Amino acid sequence: MEDIEKVRNMGIIAHIDAGKTTTTERFLFYTGKTYKIGEVDEGTAVMDWMDQEKERGITITSAATTCYWKGYKINIIDTPGHVDFTAEVERSLRVLDGAIGIFCGVSGVQPQSETVWRQSEKYRIPRIIYVNKLDRVGADFFRVVKDIEEKLNCQVIVMQIPIGKEENFCGLIDLVEEKAIFFNSELETEAEIREIPPEYRDIAEEYRQKLIEKVAEVDELIAEKYIEEKEITVAELKKGIRKGTLQLKFFPAFCGASLRNKGTLPLLDAIIDYLPSPIDRGEITGIHPKTNQKIKRSPTEDSPLSILIFKLYNETHLGRFLYGRVYSGVVKEGEKVYNFTRNCHERIMKIYQVHANKFEQIKMAKAGDIIGLTGLKNTFTGDTLADYNHPILFERISFPEPVVSIAVEPKRKSEFEQVYNSLTKLTEEDPTVKLKVDPETGQLILSGMGELHLEVIIERMKREYKVEARVGKPQVAYRETISTPSVGEGKFIKQIGEKTQYGHVIIRLEPLPRGGKFQFVNEVDESKIPKQFIPAIEEGIKESLEVGSLAGYPVTDIKAVVIDGSFRPSESVDIAYKIASSMAFKDAYRKGNPILLEPIMKVEITLPEEFLGEVVGDFNSRKGDIENIETVGNLKVIKGKIPLRAIFGYTTVLRSLTQGRGSCIIEPLYYEKVPEEELKKIMFV
Ligand code: GDP
Ligand code: MG
Repeated sequence: MEDIEKVRNMGIIAHIDAGKTTTTERFLFYTGKTYKIGEVDEGTAVMDWMDQEKERGITITSAATTCYWKGYKINIIDTPGHVDFTAEVERSLRVLDGAIGIFCGVSGVQPQSETVWRQSEKYRIPRIIYVNKLDRVGADFFRVVKDIEEKLNCQVIVMQIPIGKEENFCGLIDLVEEKAIFFNSELETEAEIREIPPEYRDIAEEYRQKLIEKVAEVDELIAEKYIEEKEITVAELKKGIRKGTLQLKFFPAFCGASLRNKGTLPLLDAIIDYLPSPIDRGEITGIHPKTNQKIKRSPTEDSPLSILIFKLYNETHLGRFLYGRVYSGVVKEGEKVYNFTRNCHERIMKIYQVHANKFEQIKMAKAGDIIGLTGLKNTFTGDTLADYNHPILFERISFPEPVVSIAVEPKRKSEFEQVYNSLTKLTEEDPTVKLKVDPETGQLILSGMGELHLEVIIERMKREYKVEARVGKPQVAYRETISTPSVGEGKFIKQIGEKTQYGHVIIRLEPLPRGGKFQFVNEVDESKIPKQFIPAIEEGIKESLEVGSLAGYPVTDIKAVVIDGSFRPSESVDIAYKIASSMAFKDAYRKGNPILLEPIMKVEITLPEEFLGEVVGDFNSRKGDIENIETVGNLKVIKGKIPLRAIFGYTTVLRSLTQGRGSCIIEPLYYEKVPEEELKKIMFV
């Protein structure tokens, strides 16, 4: 087994269509995992293995795959580029050590690449940059680098200079090795290494100088040699670049055209040279599940076992299949582990190394590995598995709340249960999909992050579970909250046979800022309500949050504080406090001037200029808010905001407005109060 320092857990983050899949296919081919290069356009890409991905040409689930390069083990986690699948991105980022940000050589920084870039900032993931598609008309490496520096507000160091432009793009200058690479044949392995051509010497010298200056800022040896004008070796320079990259001081930028097999081999080398090993990421932190105290653990084989589960997938043959990252210790086939998130014992039946849709069974895995596990019955995405005697709990992955819902009705009445069960399984896999039964109509309501997201789930139900369903029109997943602080009281006294059940609670509700979700605080003295009843009170309030009394939508952004109450020694029971607290909640909620909230979406529409007038007119008629219109190459990009209710089915509208030449990205931004006149329409339909 390879040394942990020779492991790279990396992901590829990019806007849809930037070339993630195309690039990954090259990696798999050149590292010997596949015998033929898969092509997205022909539906033969190995990483896009789900039927729907091949048809739609997009990546939906983040498939993990392992390959070996120059003695290093590279675990690649393919993340989807479409905004509707943000949960996939978030959970992959949680377990990555490093990433490649791929940008299109023509379009530069696109909305989703920007979103994901910022998401990865949160996890402080070192990244390298790859500017792809340099063979396309209008591609410009240096313009894209500038765009990245400006829009993503970061330091980029140019590592390569492209030779030739657009269709004449034929090679690269490696500024570290000071060599030129010419791609003269189909395959990169047959590329020719030459001296830097004379006409490129000046620019190469200029950029190498800039590179060294930036590295000198983070590396003393380079600084010294730079000042003294001494020769810097390739190894020294690489070491300095690695150092700055791992510290997120700068991001090295590479270039190529993956589809033409240009630039992907140097990129594989860059993964090894500049992206972190699990050891570089340092100690891992979790908390003790009982005391909540911080625990630090070294990411080595001799530490006790800990695994974070980042994905659940119901596989046709293997059943419940979990993707996990081993953070410390060693795990063996057949081993018993403890799930500290759900407090239960689990047994790992089999361990797999995953290669897209193929599974290779292995006997054991160790710190730093990304693996597949079977046999776990009660473990879900975000859970921590560890050695029972060495408790640790990793921070849960946080997911956004769904914004769109649809009603789902089985084609045949008798199939209700099958529809319900298959959707339950699919929602288990994706934390941003929720399923519930409408308490009034008995209808199944499925909610998710966007129309495409829900479409894909319904389609998967048809294909994987062979059940058909009719779906209703997409509906906005509204939320409710209060607008002023308020106090409410609930008292529950009931005679049951000989016994009396007693519970009495007074709570204060306070509005939280948007996105504040829910907080519960107990301020009552133990002499008034003994501690043992507090969990029942919290439970009563949490249940009340599910259906708000303004319009029946879930309540959010609210803080509940228990401020007073009373108890009777022989009569107080949990259930009475639970009921009393939900009565107190309803009382306070009514007095807190409840309001309805709706999702506001960020919209980016890219289109040829000739359609601009019409699209802008349409967008205005929907009362959308245009923030600006930019020119990118020969296209226009409209950026704006609009309530979700006004933009349903927009992709179809845009297609007809632009003869199929416009495209758009619609992504939830935040929740905002529904305007009065709209509120009337919503409440009285
Ligand atoms: P992903 O959505 O990021 O996974 O992007 P894909 O790998 O699916 O690529 C999107 C489209 O761009 C496909 O039609 C590819 O053939 C094309 N493409 C990818 N790389 C290149 C490239 O280097 N040059 C050109 N011209 N097209 C490319
Ligand atoms: Mg893809």
